[in-house]
Amino acid sequence: MTLSLCASELDRQSPFGFTCRRCLTCCRFKKIQLNPYETARLAGRLGISTTDFIARYTTGGTVLRFDDQGACVFLQADGCTVHPDRPLVCRLYPLGRYVDSLGVETFAQLALEDGCQGELHAQGTIARYLQDQEAFPFMEAADLYLDLLWYLVEHLHEQDLAPLQATAVSDAAGGEAEAESDDRCQLVWIDLDRTVREYCQRTGTPVPGDIDARMKLQIKAVRQWAAQPQGGDRYGNDPEPAGG
Ligand code: SF4
Ligand code: SF4
Repeated sequence: MTLSLCASELDRQSPFGFTCRRCLTCCRFKKIQLNPYETARLAGRLGISTTDFIARYTTGGTVLRFDDQGACVFLQADGCTVHPDRPLVCRLYPLGRYVDSLGVETFAQLALEDGCQGELHAQGTIARYLQDQEAFPFMEAADLYLDLLWYLVEHLHEQDLAPLQATAVSDAAGGEAEAESDDRCQLVWIDLDRTVREYCQRTGTPVPGDIDARMKLQIKAVRQWAAQPQGGDRYGNDPEPAGG
């Protein structure tokens, strides 16, 4: 299986700047992809679990819902209602970020949305823009989940990987993607609170309150899950009976 990521010539020190005019065009007709960290940030902002968040605010577990007019579920007349915890793709625009399998990071300047009233300029750097957008924790999380994806590529069957690949690759690129999920996937990949809660119950350890600690514990749990022998028990189901 191969993973394709776009390349770009830009890096953190490249000249870049963008002034948003808050016209909110870019919050419509998008499929905003979420990784488990982004889901947990949004769930935390709303004071609900990731399990509830996934059920109420996502399609397929990893894409934010939008209304009949194509508006993001969190868009109101005065802007984004979850702005401090908005996903990485919302922070990066109009940049794309790409990380290859060796961890080499590049950026691309994306075409502006039709109707976008923002202004591109070169009065700063990409690093400064990322800092202003408070993107670094989200980028670090995206990189950890991409590392996890590479690990899963080595350990899982192809049919298990399809939904995981769509999520991680899209998130690493700061882009959008279609993704499907299934119950097995949600058990170990998407639903951070559930995975951590079950891991802590199994190991008799307390659930960390800090979101970064919970993310790292989830990643550890997923790695342990993937390292188990293939079979129904990996998903908490009964294995197929022998000869059945
Ligand atoms: S999460 Fe906020 S910034 Fe991102 S698309 Fe939705 S409303 Fe816009
Ligand atoms: S479309 Fe452009 S100007 Fe309008 S809110 Fe989005 S980034 Fe800002």
